[in-house]
Amino acid sequence: MWKKIEFAIVLLLLAVLIMMSNHLEEMVSSGRVTGRNPCIVLDSGHGGEDPGKIGVNQAKEKDVNLKIAKKTKERLEKKGWKVVMTREKDVMLGDSAAGNKKIHDMKARVERINKTMPQAAVSIHQNSYQDAQIHGAQVFYYSHSEEGKRMAEVMQKALLKADEENTRQAKANDTYYLLKRTEVPTIIVECGFLSNPEEAAKLVSPKYQEKLAEAIAEGILACMEN
Ligand SMILES: [Zn+2]
Repeated sequence: MWKKIEFAIVLLLLAVLIMMSNHLEEMVSSGRVTGRNPCIVLDSGHGGEDPGKIGVNQAKEKDVNLKIAKKTKERLEKKGWKVVMTREKDVMLGDSAAGNKKIHDMKARVERINKTMPQAAVSIHQNSYQDAQIHGAQVFYYSHSEEGKRMAEVMQKALLKADEENTRQAKANDTYYLLKRTEVPTIIVECGFLSNPEEAAKLVSPKYQEKLAEAIAEGILACMEN
């Protein structure tokens, strides 16, 4: 008799444990435990006095970043996501009268991301290198963030689909200010190399910008499903 009661109690405890763990998982994924809001932050790198990289075709990185970010925003909104942009104009962030404007700009971006507490933040940039042959989009994540790593790998996959010549892989980084200081999973998408004549020409074309935006939005949506 006692054996049966003991067995029933153990079974009951097990059932309660399973129910609790299911509920916890649900709470984590819905953001109640993480404290994250149901939105995405898109960060357009550089702006205003800070042009970022200058392309071999004289394209300014800040302009390419903003165009791709805006197109990505449109796509995410169509899928029902709320999108917060760190900038929507050609401006630097932070106090324009401050001493080191670049540092204030970076701090303002991090602050905006941490205040918004999105599900994830994606910072959009363009690359440059002394060897003009180097090309292809690449995603960076914070070395100490498992979530960031997972996101970067999903995003890199989406970007590879948009450019069959690209063989780059997501890469860890532990020095970028934005990756280090944000409190939500953050990745940096370097869409391509402005130092490569062919890629620089593509990066300023609205058609390729659309293609990249499509890939970035797809990558974000895939990350949110996981
Ligand atoms: Zn940049």
